[in-house]
Amino acid sequence: MKKTALITGVSGQDGAYLSKLLLKKGYRVIGGERRSASGSLWRLKDLNIENDVEITDFELSEFTNIYRTIEKYRPDEIYNLAAQSFVGASFEMPTMTSDITGLGVSRILEAIRQINPEIKFYQASSSEMFGKVSETPQTENTPFYPRSPYGIAKLFGHWMTINYKEAYNIFACSGILFNHESPLRGEQFVTKKITMGLSKIKLGLIEYLELGNLDSKRDWGYAGDYVEAMYLMLQNDKPDNYVISTGETFSVKDFINTSCNELGIDIEWQGLGIDETAIDKKTGKSIIRINPKFYRPTEVDLLLGNSTKAKKMLKWKPKTNFYELVSKMIEYDYNKLKNK
Ligand code: NDP
Ligand code: GDP
Repeated sequence: MKKTALITGVSGQDGAYLSKLLLKKGYRVIGGERRSASGSLWRLKDLNIENDVEITDFELSEFTNIYRTIEKYRPDEIYNLAAQSFVGASFEMPTMTSDITGLGVSRILEAIRQINPEIKFYQASSSEMFGKVSETPQTENTPFYPRSPYGIAKLFGHWMTINYKEAYNIFACSGILFNHESPLRGEQFVTKKITMGLSKIKLGLIEYLELGNLDSKRDWGYAGDYVEAMYLMLQNDKPDNYVISTGETFSVKDFINTSCNELGIDIEWQGLGIDETAIDKKTGKSIIRINPKFYRPTEVDLLLGNSTKAKKMLKWKPKTNFYELVSKMIEYDYNKLKNK
């Protein structure tokens, strides 16, 4: 029989890739989109699946809406991808972030418990929970030390997921996913900001790009690979938590250098701290500048994951490396802007 999946946050990056994957596997896909939303389902259109996903109003702050949605569609699996997902914004909106990204998880779990505890549940947890890391690389057993309201809210959701699994025997999994990017990544995240910004500079549309901390390091993977891990977690024999990562880490500056390389922009770094800048050697112009407004009050300096458990238990491994990821994003942004 055809399985039904409810994907919350279907208008986001992962919602689009996961919808595509589940449709390919023959699922009926119900996509939860918040009513007050930007209204944008452009990512589903981009993947050519906008007519195949059934869209329903879904608001994480409203228990009655969550309850009715689950009762109406009676899904076999729920993937909770919805969240206030931007770390930077969480410092400005800590209580909203706690409500949506944290409490929202308990609202869904409670609805599952009341309606049908047989529904399988995936929670989109985050490497931001490791924060100020106590060991490198990070595994499922690394202690948590979140450094933002976002990380703290995700940690609440993570433990709530574990508690409902242990207390009510719900098949609930928490995927501790490290940063994953794609051409469909939100524009406020640093990778997309860089690939869009440098593409615009290359095309002469803007003169320079302003960024914050260039030294932080992330384990960046490709979203298309990571949604496969979400699916695999819910198909396994028993529910568990998994780190999903590439096992390689690169700095923001590495991301810029690789993007420039892809675009054929030859740069030289000059200056230190807030005076650091990248000069386009051909034009002599400063094309990357620091604006302290993009610094975070507390930063996560280094993330590097060890996904041995997922490799062993889920037979999952990343297929796309850092350089292929940057190349995919640059190609998409440059061509899109050029053909506008
Ligand atoms: P996006 O920011 O692209 O998507 C988030 C989604 O949540 C959007 O569809 C958004 O809707 C929706 N949303 C926001 N607020 C609400 C609300 N109040 N009620 C219902 N829906 C809401 O994130 P990603 O796709 O990149 O990430 C998916 C999930 O994985 C998120 O939970 C994120 O925190 C987590 N995660 C992501 C990582 C990454 O590197 N991408 C790493 C680790 C975890 P709208 O379009 O209206 O804004
Ligand atoms: P995060 O890991 O979920 O916070 O993902 P982001 O893409 O938002 O940020 C990754 C890293 O890039 C963080 O250490 C940021 O401080 C750093 N960074 C530097 N400049 C910027 C910027 O202009 N925007 C964002 N979003 N991050 C920046």
